[in-house]
Amino acid sequence: MNVLVINAGSSSLKYQLYEMNTEQVLATGRVERIGMESSILTHEVEGRAEVREVSEILEHTTAIRKVLDMLTHRQFGVLNAISEVQAVGHRVVHGGETFSESVLVDANVKLEIRKLFDLAPLHNPAHMMGIAAVEMNLPDVPQAVVFDTAFHQTMPKTSYLYAIPTVLYRKHQVRRYGFHGTSHDYVSQRAAEYLGRPLRDLKLVSCHIGNGASCTAILHGRSYDTSMGLTPLEGLMMGTRSGDLDPAIVPYTMNKEDLTLNEVNSMLNKHSGLMAVSGISSDMREVVQAMEAGNEQAKLAFEMYAYRIRKYIGAYAAAMDGLDAVLFTAGVGENSDVLRKRVCEGLTFFGLELDHGRNAVRSKDVRRITTDASKVAALVVPTNEELLIARDTYRLARGQGGELRHE
Ligand code: AMP
Repeated sequence: MNVLVINAGSSSLKYQLYEMNTEQVLATGRVERIGMESSILTHEVEGRAEVREVSEILEHTTAIRKVLDMLTHRQFGVLNAISEVQAVGHRVVHGGETFSESVLVDANVKLEIRKLFDLAPLHNPAHMMGIAAVEMNLPDVPQAVVFDTAFHQTMPKTSYLYAIPTVLYRKHQVRRYGFHGTSHDYVSQRAAEYLGRPLRDLKLVSCHIGNGASCTAILHGRSYDTSMGLTPLEGLMMGTRSGDLDPAIVPYTMNKEDLTLNEVNSMLNKHSGLMAVSGISSDMREVVQAMEAGNEQAKLAFEMYAYRIRKYIGAYAAAMDGLDAVLFTAGVGENSDVLRKRVCEGLTFFGLELDHGRNAVRSKDVRRITTDASKVAALVVPTNEELLIARDTYRLARGQGGELRHE
């Protein structure tokens, strides 16, 4: 079965086509600048030159049609006919309390995703446009939705409730949801395989450190606590997001700087984090480069960033009453040995002993970066959210008889 994975944003759309018997990626690509003057479709097939096509794509339905045209293109395509796309899986950021697992799209599911627009105003409406666009182009193909929040629905109340009037939870569902769930889920499964131990026996802290960043305590395979909250702003310091702060800073700065709520919101989401403290960049590579060239602000930003991660790992080890392994994933977690070193240096009291040689190795495979004698393991686990979305979609579509109908 071929499964097309879609991650639809408001002006962009990423895709990956999988052949699920082998879990091979047949093609990947993205459409950028949807609704703007010249949209760009970039299409990649392993072993072939990248294809770039500039055209006018005003909305998502046309974007999906262009993607399908590319997938079946005589020269650049990988399929003979559109009917060879047998299921489509969508990444959806917010599933609220409604969705604790992936589901097939039907009228009720669409209604529930719409109800969650308020909780993810930048993301969920765009995902819905993606779903509608696929419906228009492939009306008979089953679609599944995989939620970033679903994995965290196992958190106990002690983790997900805020200490504010409970009426806000009852009336407006104000609570911790957590994000990057697909990634935390995927890397914890990979880690258990690598360690050769059942996930249900393990206490893990998974650190998804990319542009956005979150730590999750994974107790016996289930999310027990996570650093992101009602929105993806809480928790770790990120590229441009502040992470944890005293909420009283919001009214205080509004008052002192004569800012509106929207302006403070934008400051905390888009002009804070690594960017604000370093004064250089939100990209860890540039911050590390500047730090190594002696820039003091870059060093401070780096130290704050690493310190927050270490604090969360410590807190979650205490929350779970133990720790078997720390997992590093996403752009920074997978690629920055300097950052991993700084985080792990402060965890020796746990019995986590970094192996500097292993930490410096660059590879796309899962690997241990602690010594063999280390009581707590640290692993680098490359994430693959698309594969998990493809697997869930495959499972759900087959369950629905998708395989019989289309193969
Ligand atoms: P992601 O959101 O997972 O795609 O991660 C993107 C971020 O990863 C970029 O903004 C960079 O800060 C970071 N990154 C990628 N490669 C490296 C690297 N070699 N060293 C440090 N940071 C990196």
